[in-house]
Formats: sequence, structure tokens, C-alpha cells
Amino acid sequence: MKITDIECIHLRVPKMDEECAWGDDALLVKVHTDAGLIGIGETDTSPLVAKAVIDAPSSNLHSSGLKRLLIGENPLEIQRLWDKMYLGSNYFGRKGVAMHAISAIDIALWDIASQHYGVPLYTLLGGKYRDKIEVYGTFVTGDTPEKNNDIIAEYMADGFNCLKFGDGVYGNNPDLDVKIVESARLFAGDDLEIAIDVQCKWLTYGNAAQLYKRMEPYNLKWIEEPILDDDLPGYARLSDIGSTRTSGGERLAGRQEFTDFIKNSKVDIVQPDITRCGGISELKKINEVAETYGCKLLPHGYSTGILLAASIQFLAATKYGDFMEYSKCSSPLFTDLVTNLIPMKDGYVTVPDTIGLGIELNEDVIEKYKVKG
Ligand code: MG
Repeated sequence: MKITDIECIHLRVPKMDEECAWGDDALLVKVHTDAGLIGIGETDTSPLVAKAVIDAPSSNLHSSGLKRLLIGENPLEIQRLWDKMYLGSNYFGRKGVAMHAISAIDIALWDIASQHYGVPLYTLLGGKYRDKIEVYGTFVTGDTPEKNNDIIAEYMADGFNCLKFGDGVYGNNPDLDVKIVESARLFAGDDLEIAIDVQCKWLTYGNAAQLYKRMEPYNLKWIEEPILDDDLPGYARLSDIGSTRTSGGERLAGRQEFTDFIKNSKVDIVQPDITRCGGISELKKINEVAETYGCKLLPHGYSTGILLAASIQFLAATKYGDFMEYSKCSSPLFTDLVTNLIPMKDGYVTVPDTIGLGIELNEDVIEKYKVKG
């Protein structure tokens, strides 16, 4: 079997010159083979930038678009092809968007392998540890404590036992940050687990340390990305404050960055995104580092049903993979792109016994939101 083409599909809900919100654009990748098998992947990044990484011509030994490196190759030789892409994009890559593009292709190659061997992806990844995975719901913070509590009520009615909110107004005003959390805890009671995602907006250790102390009475499940992921000493000091867990890592890529982060930030929870960190192949390695250092791997995930399916297959085959993020994004790229989107029920997702990612794409949605040219 040989790879014959790598097709990039740029989807976007708003017009190109309009602002875009979380989940409203995506880069889908289809890896085509001469056997007729097609693998599907995606990366949750700036789609046109990742597309350029895939489609670029060769400049030299270490600066090549990924597509031309893989045409004619056997898609089942996943690790060798991963290494070929990593080395071939080495000058402009190693981290960031080149790794995002590699992630999309890597996911598609695992999809092909599972189809070729006719076994579920979790079997290829080492075997299924569990049939169900607990999930938490994520939403963009409401502008006021009252609006936020309205959203919390909806999510609780849907069956979530754990919620996380961030972005929107969160992180702009320390007093409002505390008030929203205080109000949420009073509204939801002690049975609901609540986490917050600061999107690095507390900026410095000093600001964040004050807020950690003010948040302590509200028993947060974790505080996510209080400061930029580059400030490892800041993370380490925050991780030592009180009993609140700290998490981070969604913007990192590759085992080297993650090893550095896990060892030196002292976070309790690390959050690689399978569509950015280097794909399924690299997440396996990152997971081993996390297990070695006693850090919980809790993948980031707020994009299409492709990301969701890949994350579920990965966690099903992971010893401690019993908890994950579940987007409730209202974007059609989440709700309608994958016709057999894996549902949440009573706070859990059931691991599907599909071959490959098992994804059925809605071609009408692709046609409607595809950016032409
Ligand atoms: Mg986050």
C-alpha cells in the first residue's frame, strides 16, 4: 500500500475577514492510498499556516513540506514516517505549527492502519482498559456571575458532574474572577466539581499567587494555565501553594517540551492536545513521561468530532486515561461535521468499538464551510 495524496480541507464558519471564535474553523486532512483506504485527521491550529506546512515544496534537506515527503510511502510504517516528517521539517519545525501539521497526518495514518488490520484503534494502541470514560464540560465564561450560573445550570441538566470555564471575561479583573467562582460554588453546591481555565491571563507568579489564595475556599478541581507555559519556575511555585491542583500544556508540542514542562513545572495535570502535540504517536511518548513523573494526563480537546474520536481511542488504551474534556461548542464544525459524533451521557462517553476512528463526515457541511482556493 502506498500514499497517493494528502488533501487539506480548510473549514471556516465566519467569513475570512471576520473574527473567528473557538471551534469555528478547522483543518481536516485526508490521507489517500492506492488501496482505496482513506485516513482522516485534523489539527486545531491556524488552518492556513498548517496547510502551508503540508503543501510547501522542498527547499533543502531540512525544509520540506510534509506531503512530498510521504507520497509513495507505506502508510503503515507510522513511526518511520513520523521521524521522516520531523527531520524533513526540522529548520522551520520541531515545535509549533509543524508539529500541529504532523499531528493531523499521524492521526490519519493510525486511522488507515486500524482499517487495514481490521481491528479497533485501541487494540493497535495496546488494548482497551475501559469501556467508558468520564468527561467534564467546558464553556466560555459568562459575562456576569448570574449569566455564568445559567450556563452551569444547563450543563448540570445535561448530566455533567464536572465543569470548567474560562476565556471571555475570565482573567481580566481579579475581583470578578473570584466573584464568579464564589457565585458558581454557591449556586452549584459541593457535589459539582469546578475547574477554571485562566488562559495565562494572570500573567505573573505574584498575581496568580494572590488569586490562588483567594480561590482556596471554593475547592476548585484545578486551575488551568494561570500564567504562560514558558514560566516553569512560576508554575513550580504556584504548584506548591495550598491544595489546589495546577494544570497546563495545551500549547506545547513534542516530547521534549512536555518532558521539560512535566519535570520542572510540578503541575499535577498535563493537557496535550492530540491534534497539536505530535499526534497519537507522540502522545504515547508524552503519556509515558507523565506516568513516570506521577502527572495526570488529561488531554485538551475543543474542536471537531475527529479530535474527540481520536482522544477517546487513545485514552481507552491508556492505563490512567479515565477522564477527558468534552466540548459542548455550538459550532456546526462540532455539532454537524461528524454525523456519528460520540455523545456524552450522564457524564461519560462510551468507547466505540469501531474500526479506525470510525468517523462519518457530513459532506454537505464540508461543502458549506470549505474555504475555496
Ligand atoms: Mg485551556
